[in-house]
Amino acid sequence: MDMVVYSYNVDKGMAFQLARAVAQGYCKYLARPLVTSLKCFRASHLPRSAWDEQRQQWNARKILEHFILQSAMTCNNLYEDVSVGGYAGAEACLNPEHCTKLFRKESSIHCCHPTKQLTLLVVDISCFVPPMTEVFGVAISGEGCLVNIKETLNDVSAMIKVSMHEMGHVLGLDHCCNPACVMAFSEDLFQLNHKQREPCKGCLSKLEYIHPLLSSLIVET
Ligand SMILES: [Zn+2]
Ligand SMILES: [Zn+2]
Repeated sequence: MDMVVYSYNVDKGMAFQLARAVAQGYCKYLARPLVTSLKCFRASHLPRSAWDEQRQQWNARKILEHFILQSAMTCNNLYEDVSVGGYAGAEACLNPEHCTKLFRKESSIHCCHPTKQLTLLVVDISCFVPPMTEVFGVAISGEGCLVNIKETLNDVSAMIKVSMHEMGHVLGLDHCCNPACVMAFSEDLFQLNHKQREPCKGCLSKLEYIHPLLSSLIVET
């Protein structure tokens, strides 16, 4: 599986560092690597449609959707949709138009073909997801996530926790009631600082359940 990384208003090296930490963070729990390649891009602008004039803030989810579509448009490989317990169907993805359709088709987290691309967008902006006014990040299951480093006050460890948390959602994990687990919901920096970088045992076994075919599908490059 590829990970396409975008940075906006953030040093590209920092975005790459976070992407690598996430890839390694999840890879070590699986038999074979989750992410086999990282592609890193610096975004020069955000989609105007994501700007909320009234709030004078960016809509994080709209930005994320834009970049997920962007990375899908660059795809020219075969896509296969895999659901838990078996194949739900297979589709050849040969042109950008199809990728757009694929994106609109509400593809689910359980699509884990090696050529499936995950998107990680790292930004440093003021952004919201209703009803929250400022967010650490947002994720779309099976597709990608946005990590906003604005609220983490240059603390790389906190940034990695946010990235691990959001990518956990991308991989199919929900919020966890164990406060030490990276998948616990953090309302503020205090709560974020008091959890670990890693998913708890319960979340790890969920991950193994969600991705039973993952290790056998991954083609190492
Ligand atoms: Zn969350
Ligand atoms: Zn957990």
